[in-house]
Amino acid sequence: MNTPQDLIIKKRDGGRLSSLEINDFVAGATGGAWADYQASAMLMACFINGLNLAEQNALTAAMLASGERFNFSDLLGEGAPVADKHSTGGVGDKTSLLIAPFAAACGAFVPMISGRGLGHTGGTLDKLESIGGYNIRLTHEEFKEIVVKCGFALAGQTEKIVPADKKLYALRDATATVESVPLIVASIMSKKLAEGLTALVLDVKTGTGAFMQTEREARGLAKALVETGNAFDVKTEAVISDMNQPLGKYVGNALEVFECVKILRGEFDAQAKQTLDLSVELAARMLVLTEIADSFENAKSKIEDCLASGAALEKFRENLELQGGDAKICDSPEILLKKNLLQIKINAHASGFVNQIDATEIGKAIQSIGGGRAKVNDKIDYAVGFACEKKLGDEVVEHEPLGTLFCRTEAQAARVLAKLQMAYKIGEEKSTAPELIKEIVS
Ligand code: URA
Repeated sequence: MNTPQDLIIKKRDGGRLSSLEINDFVAGATGGAWADYQASAMLMACFINGLNLAEQNALTAAMLASGERFNFSDLLGEGAPVADKHSTGGVGDKTSLLIAPFAAACGAFVPMISGRGLGHTGGTLDKLESIGGYNIRLTHEEFKEIVVKCGFALAGQTEKIVPADKKLYALRDATATVESVPLIVASIMSKKLAEGLTALVLDVKTGTGAFMQTEREARGLAKALVETGNAFDVKTEAVISDMNQPLGKYVGNALEVFECVKILRGEFDAQAKQTLDLSVELAARMLVLTEIADSFENAKSKIEDCLASGAALEKFRENLELQGGDAKICDSPEILLKKNLLQIKINAHASGFVNQIDATEIGKAIQSIGGGRAKVNDKIDYAVGFACEKKLGDEVVEHEPLGTLFCRTEAQAARVLAKLQMAYKIGEEKSTAPELIKEIVS
């Protein structure tokens, strides 16, 4: 029987761990047989020396086995079109709120276990909680029942789903071992595989607002995620998408839900169209992987039909009714907007073309006035946020608004105004907007 020290030495010295050794590590770290300092030392050894594909898959399997797994075959039959999307996170990234009703309206079942925002990026659960009454704390049984009834459910992770990730992620966060591709892959994929999927689409973001700032890093992560998904018999595809500016129009929890409901109602402008385009792309790939559509073009037109007929909006309403959310937002999305907010214009400091936007700075500015968390237990102000009125490649005239800040007090405005303005670089040369979809990894 190996001691924790034996396994740490093996990895520290560049050795390859067997599946059994990885199981010992994960079970020991989760169950308490390994002290936190031993598990942390192992994580650092993995971070420095890496894991090969077999080790990455063994770690994913061991983490997955630490908790319960959804299985929809009893209610939906073997091979039912159960699919999800996962995003690596960005600023203004709200596509889950559209993808779930789009895919469900076309016949897929979407068990979407989502996360909270941390740092400059938002989280789907926080956006949902900005809807009055919406319940993201569902039991295993309630979650499954809602997925089967209306085609999708959105909820937080329970204690029963991949408890190993809860433990290991907290240790990684405290020991500077988060940014390791195999550790990220095992963390993300163990949670997604626990959903009982037949297909998974990953949105790997790259750019100034993303975890992976360069396309090379994003491609490496996308390939590793896809390899592991397919190794577990889940048809997996990744889309590398642009995060060099906030996605769509709004950043901020309630504002982002507002943007999505407006899109579902067919009422959107050029800025918000980017949110729609990316959501259609990702949802269409889910329909192809689950064989609901026989081609990407066919899948897109199915989704466009569901949007035009109002079927996607009705799916969203059905879900709100089942999860306790205020379904009146479907008829009057303005309910989501608080009336007593200050709305302050951020004006261009020169004339020219918007050729750079620091999305992370915009995310951080909104986080700093309560729109996001610095620590896991921080309270969120759902109402604050930012509207992007100018996007990359747009022409601006000096003093013309680049965007609008929604905040509570003058003091908050004073704190972030300069940061928001500095997030935009305006040049004389005409620049073009970046491609939203950079690459497909399958
Ligand atoms: N998201 C996760 O769920 N896990 C990671 O390790 C990184 C991002």
